[in-house]
Amino acid sequence: MTCKKLVLLIMTAIVLMPTFTYASGSTNNIFQYIDPYVTVEFDEENDFPDETKQRIADQFAGIVSAGQIAGDDTANILCTLFGHKTSETIVGVTHHFVYAHDPRCREDYYNVIACSRCDYTVDEYLTSMDVYCHPENSEM
Ligand SMILES: [Zn+2]
Ligand SMILES: [Zn+2]
Repeated sequence: MTCKKLVLLIMTAIVLMPTFTYASGSTNNIFQYIDPYVTVEFDEENDFPDETKQRIADQFAGIVSAGQIAGDDTANILCTLFGHKTSETIVGVTHHFVYAHDPRCREDYYNVIACSRCDYTVDEYLTSMDVYCHPENSEM
């Protein structure tokens, strides 16, 4: 009885193992910035490469401005010849501590179309909502 249970436990562990490996190997969809205090979160269904997500997140966080990285001089030759290799996703950008009183944070949603080969990005503002991720009466 106990032996059977042990075998079952080991088998379960083996079956679950690849799932855990896959989860830890999945790409990052949340980018946290300290100054300015901004969180950029991509919809989990996105198929952007990590570099593209980093670029888009930097742009939303204000680390680089859209105009700064756009431009013909940075366009990939493949994009010039065959057009951009674009994907589309929803991105949530949370600006923390923007208001003095609850809810103190605001999340802006954008529909983002971006090329994974060059800096081409089009973002369309969708909506905003105030969020309670940092309530007044709590530590950070
Ligand atoms: Zn492109
Ligand atoms: Zn917050």
